[in-house]
Amino acid sequence: MAQPGRLVQYRSLPQRRGGPILNDVSPSSRTDADETLADLLARIRACRMCAHALPHGVRPIVQAASTARLLIIGQAPGSKVHVSGIGWDDDSGDRLRAWTGLDRETFYDPAQVAQMPSGFCYPGKGNGGDLPPRPECAPHWHPPLLAALPQVRLTLLVGQYAIGRYLPRHLRPSMTEAVRRFAEAPVGLFPLPHPAWRSRLWMARNPWFESDVLPALRQQVAQALGKDNISGNWQAPCL
Ligand code: SF4
Repeated sequence: MAQPGRLVQYRSLPQRRGGPILNDVSPSSRTDADETLADLLARIRACRMCAHALPHGVRPIVQAASTARLLIIGQAPGSKVHVSGIGWDDDSGDRLRAWTGLDRETFYDPAQVAQMPSGFCYPGKGNGGDLPPRPECAPHWHPPLLAALPQVRLTLLVGQYAIGRYLPRHLRPSMTEAVRRFAEAPVGLFPLPHPAWRSRLWMARNPWFESDVLPALRQQVAQALGKDNISGNWQAPCL
């Protein structure tokens, strides 16, 4: 029998040789839905589908619980996240938290916030920076994970890969246009640029992002999470 409100926390943790660690902090509190999700997360963390193409090894980064109301679909973990095993545990994550108004406690609470990158493992670096997310990953793992997150009210499409996969084509002639036209996105989707350090330059060129988009983002995030204490008044972070 399911026990509403009782959750299991799943986080990416350092892997042991021979397999990942599944952080099940409260086995006795699993719900029926979480049992299903636990199986799925275990399969994701055991995935080796494109190990041959990952120069730094396999380390899937994912955070989810069946009660999550906010879903963040990002790009792929960077080198720092690959080491820590914690999604968005880098400067980009600090910037995303500032944009959304989320504190770390909420951001890393899988009962509220799910993280699903476009590629779960760090793809390594190429000539122009980090390589794209592995193309095998999202088509294989996103559909079952999305199906296991029935309470998501708002999905943040962070960066060109998430926008390209989930935003209707006519709304994304470019990443900048997709973000500028955020209000036209289907209900429950919110396109954002990737909050890498370059986003500061992008924000300077596109001041409407700070004045128009971020207040709406914070309001929608607060509504999705049922929190009235996330201010809709955007204040520029020192990032
Ligand atoms: S990137 Fe995705 S498909 Fe490739 S090994 Fe990691 S979890 Fe599996």
